Amino acid sequence: TIGEVAEDIGFKAYAVGGFVRDLLQKQKNLDLDIVVEGDGIIFAKQLVKTLGGRVRTHDRFKTANITLANGFKIDVATARLEYYEYPAALPTVELSSIKLDLYRRDFTINAMALQLNPALFGTLIDFFSCQNDLKDKLIKVLHNLSFVEDPSRILRAVRFEKRMDFKIARHTERLIHGAVKMDLFGKTNNPRIFTELKQIFEEENPILAIRRLADLELFQFLWPDLLPNLKIDRRFLHIIRQAQQAISWFHLLYLDEPIEPWRVYLLAIMARSRPRQIETFCERFQIHDHICRELIIQKLTADEIGNKLYGRIPEKNSEINQMLKNLTNEGLLYLMAIARKKEIKKTVSLYVTSLRNVQSLLNGDDLKKLGYIPGEQFKKMFSDITDARLDGLVKSREDEKQFIL
Ligand code: ATP
Repeated sequence: TIGEVAEDIGFKAYAVGGFVRDLLQKQKNLDLDIVVEGDGIIFAKQLVKTLGGRVRTHDRFKTANITLANGFKIDVATARLEYYEYPAALPTVELSSIKLDLYRRDFTINAMALQLNPALFGTLIDFFSCQNDLKDKLIKVLHNLSFVEDPSRILRAVRFEKRMDFKIARHTERLIHGAVKMDLFGKTNNPRIFTELKQIFEEENPILAIRRLADLELFQFLWPDLLPNLKIDRRFLHIIRQAQQAISWFHLLYLDEPIEPWRVYLLAIMARSRPRQIETFCERFQIHDHICRELIIQKLTADEIGNKLYGRIPEKNSEINQMLKNLTNEGLLYLMAIARKKEIKKTVSLYVTSLRNVQSLLNGDDLKKLGYIPGEQFKKMFSDITDARLDGLVKSREDEKQFIL
């Protein structure tokens, strides 16, 4: 259908990027990227007329995002052949726009396309021997200036290498070392770098990627303030590992509460940093002030609680509740990551899975019937009843009534 829509309006459409890579590897990929030789916006609007769904267009870049009724997402881009867009090093002849589009991509494994127009549907377009690299499990840039053009690709290389168990090709790795030496990475405060870092932290197991970043000497750019204090020592790795375990554990609970793993990993990496260093990190990568403040508050709160719990685990559940109630899910998981005793993790886990859900059985109406007047007093009563329930002092509604009398 997609190809027919393109054909009808005289454009050529191609599936590109990660979708093709994953298809060739028989992996699922729910995001379809399409490049159109023609006008991506006209094409996207036409496609939505045929398939239904919603479309959002970005006129300046001639791109569009489509969400179909079943949740499937399609990103549409336009392959344009405009003179000023040519990389200086390239001859301006003999390039079809799809070829140029693919040449501008990050790695060969992401630089293949599939024809979608009916006559040639399914034909693989591979200008740069990409399929071989995919077979050989190699991450390779398309040209030597790739990391100069966009240093965030270094993070992408590491992410793909670790996710798919590929290898960054030797020449490409040399270019990374070169970029590091030239301080290419350090000079930029490109928000893309943070976006890519976040992507690494959203992977199922980012630990290998984090280590690889350290080995490639990228830590000094990502967290320059941490040096020379920061050592990739056992304690550091232990905290990251515990962060990963805590996040997996939380996902297994199926709580239906979305969490942002990147916050946990970032705090875990910066576990030994001061608030000022977190601020500097946020400023460099243009992270919003309110997110930065939240990160710092969660860290300071969790650090303090971690120390208290190391000294003594409260006997009363109500006390545990009181202690942990100001932590977000990410703050709680960070606390589990820095825990220096098993009992601390157990306490947090008890709080997450049960204590924090305990409520009084009596509700507002019940209290009114008992002659109380709604307002501040109610809040205090509910909180007292909840504490009593947590500590096993009341079990039934009757108990609760007796308790407040
Ligand atoms: P994932 O499975 O993680 O989504 P993906 O390959 O689909 O991987 P995206 O970040 O969605 O990754 O990017 C889609 C495509 O856009 C990539 O396959 C790649 O061809 C291209 N791309 C993305 N980022 C860059 C970049 N920084 N430089 C060049 N090309 C890029």
